[in-house]
Amino acid sequence: MMRIGLGRDLHRLVEGRPFLLAGVRLPSPRGEEGHSDGDVLAHAVIDALLGAAALGDIGEFFPPGDPVWKDADSMELLRQSWAKVRASGWRLVNLDCCVICEVPKVLPWREKIRSSLAAVLEADTEAVFVKAKTGEGLGPIGEGLAVEAEAVCLLRMQ
Ligand code: MG
Repeated sequence: MMRIGLGRDLHRLVEGRPFLLAGVRLPSPRGEEGHSDGDVLAHAVIDALLGAAALGDIGEFFPPGDPVWKDADSMELLRQSWAKVRASGWRLVNLDCCVICEVPKVLPWREKIRSSLAAVLEADTEAVFVKAKTGEGLGPIGEGLAVEAEAVCLLRMQ
């Protein structure tokens, strides 16, 4: 059996925060605001995986109001989420992601981001892809006020 999952997230960009994508810090004067470390890509991937496995969503497992998750390392949240998905018998076929932001440029960091996700998901880097787009200057993303991430995954029952 195979199952597809979809995840999506958006964070405000503010000064004085690191800009994180799947645990990789990109040089940027602004970073994601959030209760956790704000890693927008990690959050979208978590929701894609949990959704494919029909286990829940990120807000249920890691409630944003819970002090336990204050400044939490989102890659650790991904690790814990993947452990639950794996324990249900699922393995990753592939993961495809899209990051949408005006700055910084994501492409130079793509391979690092792919490797970071693949390592946590116990998959080959070939099974993980990340694309980057801009907001074409339109809306909050285009004005550099926000970053969005989308993720689609395919899981197969072991
Ligand atoms: Mg989030």
